[in-house]
Amino acid sequence: MLAGKEGIELEDREVLAQLPELLLRWYDGSARVLPWRENPTPYRVWVSEIMLQQTRVEAVKPYYERFLSAFPTVEDLAKAPVDRVLKMWEGLGYYNRVRNLQKGAQVVMERYGGQVPASFEELRSLPGIGDYTAGAIASIAFQIPVPAVDGNVLRVISRVLCRRDNILDPKVKGRMEKEIREILPKRVGDFNQSLMELGAMVCLPGGPPKCLLCPLGKICQGYAQGVAQELPVKTKPKPRKKEVRTLFLLLSKEGRLALWKRPEKGLLAGLWELPGTEGKLTREQGEAFLGERGLKVGTLSPGPKAKHIFSHVEWHMTCWVGENMEEAPGFTWVTGQELRESCTLPSAFKGYFPAIGQMLEN
Ligand code: SF4
Repeated sequence: MLAGKEGIELEDREVLAQLPELLLRWYDGSARVLPWRENPTPYRVWVSEIMLQQTRVEAVKPYYERFLSAFPTVEDLAKAPVDRVLKMWEGLGYYNRVRNLQKGAQVVMERYGGQVPASFEELRSLPGIGDYTAGAIASIAFQIPVPAVDGNVLRVISRVLCRRDNILDPKVKGRMEKEIREILPKRVGDFNQSLMELGAMVCLPGGPPKCLLCPLGKICQGYAQGVAQELPVKTKPKPRKKEVRTLFLLLSKEGRLALWKRPEKGLLAGLWELPGTEGKLTREQGEAFLGERGLKVGTLSPGPKAKHIFSHVEWHMTCWVGENMEEAPGFTWVTGQELRESCTLPSAFKGYFPAIGQMLEN
């Protein structure tokens, strides 16, 4: 439940349910006349959506008709020499877009006999087409009821529902797609375009949104609560923490390897690991570390370095090797067979697997 000024209290579902009617009425009266909106054949929509990725509408306009005059059909584009295609794209930048567009046209020729496929999944499988672009082509050109959620839509919906979820989180986008799917009207292509159009013309990024001119002003919870401009929330993932660790590859006189278990909480909780500690220990510090744990070593020799990347932490590991140890308590000493069958080492230590294999064989 949301509470706004002037006593507006609306569930998210109630707000969303009103979007199609309000937006389509506004779109019918206010949509910009754009070349790709006239005669929206699948190929024309496809070309426009690829051009509009990373490029403003005004910048795309002059290129669009020129490109379509040069390559009026999928077949023309598929067969054209790549240099000519690149020439027609010159000035738009991000040339991978047009390379993929041409590859996509070739796939459409080979696999679909030159007909752009009328299915979200098949569109999605073409080079250079992601969820948003597949949704846009499917809904605008074929009226297939699928959402097309881009940055504009994420912003508008976050503000309308006054949501502070991080829109860079794919789960948040997935949830929004699901919610929009439930309210899609018959005129699905126009509806998807109306959401994007509102984001581009009224509910602006960067500056203040034009709430007084907005067809959603009466139901917009972000506006009602005076926080529209703070939304949406975009939080980049924190950079990974780098952790330097020193590990020990310790082999007993009996030919067994020393392991111990990690603490029951935290990273790799309760799993086996090579004995080790945070920080980079010198040989003397390593010997002292082991001595404190009842292990007398002759001389430690340097072992391999390894790195492992978890989602939030990176381990940068160095290693000391000790052989001919007395099997002190506090460690679990395992044979090669036990290591294979019952003491699985996490893949964080896979950089050490070859060295361990070699030690346990000898
Ligand atoms: Fe965006 Fe304002 Fe419209 Fe809400 S009322 S959707 S914040 S322009």
